[in-house]
Amino acid sequence: MTKQIKVLFLAAEAEPFIKIGGLGDVSGSLPPALHASGNLDIRLVIPFHGAIQRQGFHFQRAAEFYVPSQDGPIRAEAFYTELDGLPVYLITGTPIPPEAPVYSQDYPTDGYKFTFFSLAALNLLEAIQWTPDILHANDWHTALSIYAIGSGYARKFHKIASLLGVHNLPYLGEHVGAALQSFELPPAENTTLPGWAEKMALPLGMLYADHIVTVSPSYAKEIMTPEFGSGLDGFLRQRKNSISGILNGINITVWDPGSDADIAQKFTREQVDVRAINKMVLQEEFRLPVDENIPLFAIVSRLDHQKGIDIVPDAFRQITDMRWQAIILGTGNPELEAAIRQFEVDFPNQARAAIRFDAKLSQRIYAGADALLIPSRYEPCGLTQMIAMRYGCIPIGRATGGLMDTIIDIDTSRRRGTGFLFAQAKSEDLGDCLRRATNIFANRKLWKRLQQNGMQMDFSWSNSAGKYIKLYHSLSAGKA
Ligand code: ADP
Repeated sequence: MTKQIKVLFLAAEAEPFIKIGGLGDVSGSLPPALHASGNLDIRLVIPFHGAIQRQGFHFQRAAEFYVPSQDGPIRAEAFYTELDGLPVYLITGTPIPPEAPVYSQDYPTDGYKFTFFSLAALNLLEAIQWTPDILHANDWHTALSIYAIGSGYARKFHKIASLLGVHNLPYLGEHVGAALQSFELPPAENTTLPGWAEKMALPLGMLYADHIVTVSPSYAKEIMTPEFGSGLDGFLRQRKNSISGILNGINITVWDPGSDADIAQKFTREQVDVRAINKMVLQEEFRLPVDENIPLFAIVSRLDHQKGIDIVPDAFRQITDMRWQAIILGTGNPELEAAIRQFEVDFPNQARAAIRFDAKLSQRIYAGADALLIPSRYEPCGLTQMIAMRYGCIPIGRATGGLMDTIIDIDTSRRRGTGFLFAQAKSEDLGDCLRRATNIFANRKLWKRLQQNGMQMDFSWSNSAGKYIKLYHSLSAGKA
C-alpha cells in the first residue's frame, strides 16, 4: 500500500464556484478527479470572490487567522464546503472585496489581492492543523505561495514539495512589486532569473518550484523557445529537467451530448446523424438560412490577441466563392469585439456575432455547428477543441501547443483523423484550411468519420489524473 499523499491545490478560480476561462475548468475538474482516485487527500483552496456561485453549497466557517503585513495583520476567514466529496476552502479578507471582479483592469490591486490569497492559503494550514506533502499552485495568481516557502518567508513549510502549473505563461504577474513589499516577502536578488523578472509572481514561483508542469506536452517544449518563452526561455532551459507537460482533461459528465439538457436534440456517437436538428435550431436562433448543406463554422472564445481572432474575417473573405456560415461567441478586447461586429455587418446573410459570455449558448454551438475554429497564436492546452470533438463538432486549429497534441489532421491520417490543423496564425493559412474543410464537408461520409473519430477520443481526466498522481509521488519522495 503506497503512502496517502496530501495535496494543497491553489487556484484563482474553479467551477462550479466560479469560472472565467480554462483555468476554472481545470481547477474545478482535476482536483475532484484526483479525489475520486481514492488514495489522495487533496484539498482545493480558492478566493471567496463576490461572484462565487452559492446555490447548492453550504459554506461552513472553518477558520479565522491573520496575514502579517506592513500595515499590521490583515484578518482572513476560511469557509469550508465540499464538491463531490472534495474538501474546498474559500478565503475572504479585505483584499478580496465582494464587489471586485475576479480579474480587473487594475493590475496592482489584483496583484495585492492574489498575493494576500497566496499567503493566506499558507496561514490556513496552521489554522486547520493540516500540512500537505505537495503544494500545487497554478499560474501567477498563486505562484507566490511557492516563493514564500522557497525564499524563507514561510521556512517552516520547507518540507512541502512544490509544483507550479503553468496554464498561460505570458501572464507573468508583473504588478506584484508593491504587494511583495506590503507583505514583507524577502527580495529575490542575483537569482538565475533575468533581472526584470525578479519582482514578478510567476517567475518567482518558477524559481523555487520543485517542478513546473504545463498543460500539454507540446507547450512544455514551446516555453523553452524564444518564440513562446516570454523572455524566460533561457531560464527555463536551465530548468528543463524539472519541466514536463500533462494534457488537461475535460469533465466528460458535464460535457456530454448524450445527456446535455440544454441542447435541442441529445445524441451519441452511434446516432450522430440526428445532430442535424441542433444545427437547424442554431441556424434558426441566429436567423441564418436554414440549410444542412452549408457548413456552419463557429468560434467560442475569449476575444484576445492570443486566440488569433483578428485573422478570422480576412480568412473568410478568401472563400467568398464558397457557401459558408459563421457564428462567433466571445467577449474581451474591445477592438476585436468591434472587428467581429463589423464582420457581421459585412456578411449579413452569413456571419453572426454574440458578444457575451454565455455557457448555455456555447453548449448549443458545440452541439450544432459543423466545425469550431481555434486559430490561436499560442495555446497552452485549449479545452474548446476537446469539448467540440466530444460534441461531434470538428476542430480547425493552428498547429501549436495542446491543439497539436489533441487534433489529428485528416491529411495525416484518413482513418484516424479528427480535424484540421494549419501552420501559421495568418489569414492565408486559415483561409486555405477553411477551403480544405469546406471541400471535405461535401464528402458527408468522410465528415461523419471525422465526427465519430473525435467523439471516440478519451478526453476524460482518467489518463492525466494518473500522471499527476505519479508526479506527486515522485516529488514527495524527493523531499523525504
Ligand atoms: P482559455 O482558458 O485560454 O480561455 P480554453 O479553451 O482553455 O481557453 O477554455 C475556454 C473555456 O471557456 C471553454 O470551456 C469555453 O467553452 C469557455 N468559453 C470561452 N468563451 C466563452 C463564451 N463567450 N461563452 C461561454 N463560454 C465560453
